[in-house]
Amino acid sequence: MKAVVFEDVGLAGIHDRAVPSFGAGEVLVKVAATGICGTDRAILLGDFPARRGVVLGHEAVGAVAAVGAGVSSVAPGDRVVINPTYHCDRCRPCRRGMPAHCGAKAGREVGVDRDGTMADFAVVPERFVHRLPASVSYRRGALVEPLACVLNNLTAARLRWDDQVLVVGAGPIGTLCALVLAWRGARVALAERDPGRVALARLLLPRTVRVLAAQEAAGADTPDVVIDTTGSLPGDVLGAVAAGGTVVVMGEKEAGLATVPLRALVTRGIRLAGAGPYRPADFELAVALARELPLEALVTHVLPLERYAEALAMLAVAPAGPGRSKPEGYSAMKVLLASDESLVP
Ligand SMILES: [Zn+2]
Ligand SMILES: [Zn+2]
Repeated sequence: MKAVVFEDVGLAGIHDRAVPSFGAGEVLVKVAATGICGTDRAILLGDFPARRGVVLGHEAVGAVAAVGAGVSSVAPGDRVVINPTYHCDRCRPCRRGMPAHCGAKAGREVGVDRDGTMADFAVVPERFVHRLPASVSYRRGALVEPLACVLNNLTAARLRWDDQVLVVGAGPIGTLCALVLAWRGARVALAERDPGRVALARLLLPRTVRVLAAQEAAGADTPDVVIDTTGSLPGDVLGAVAAGGTVVVMGEKEAGLATVPLRALVTRGIRLAGAGPYRPADFELAVALARELPLEALVTHVLPLERYAEALAMLAVAPAGPGRSKPEGYSAMKVLLASDESLVP
């Protein structure tokens, strides 16, 4: 089978791999498509540690090809989405109800240190395979995993009905945050520096979302909640949020640091929150909400696996190789790599 493999920082390649074998309790998924995530970018840019030789990708949809002994919740032919955030259920965090912070993740991180889904097939333990509702296309279902991330972070924001929310960064995650918040009826503004992404966000999002070019953000309503998806928390955000407000740090970078004005934190009662990975329940909620949310609006490109380098270039990453030019900046929102293009019209 074909697979997109992480060779080294700045280096990926399409490799011929054996279809992975599966055992009891496991499901062989024929992958339809995988969304390219910030994590895949970060791995290639050297901003996120990953095992060399690993198959990249974790935001995947597909159909069950075969099941191992004892698998009862899915059957061959079922359309499914993969929850790539594995947990063991045995360690202390898992037993204390925090499986997102499972202490036994080594070797279990899909597309990081365990083979991922940018391939024709992937093997997944049964409990991390979820059936897609009949009304949810693969194109939409590929956004279920990022939606789970967003739901988890919006939970950490502890939103109130009258909150004014500012989302910083109009990448797929920021745009998805704004989409969910608008759907919930929240007052939401989205700030972004990249002019291409400002234009895309304006096109994709409901009119109720104010999309601000970054320099306009200063003139926006004072936010009660800021969701920062950029990985470079602007230093002035804590001063800009309303008293009693919350700043959720959703984006981060390897060795990323921020300077926090402690007085604002203390005297104005600002809460600075991180959510961590999503919980299994967030993923299940994301599958259910996919029935209603037009997630596919974020998908601007679908390319076959073989064109992975072109796809990455649209996201401002240039893995080395012949005939590849240096990308200028973002020219896409969510890009899917299709293992089978006919399934993702
Ligand atoms: Zn992801
Ligand atoms: Zn665990």
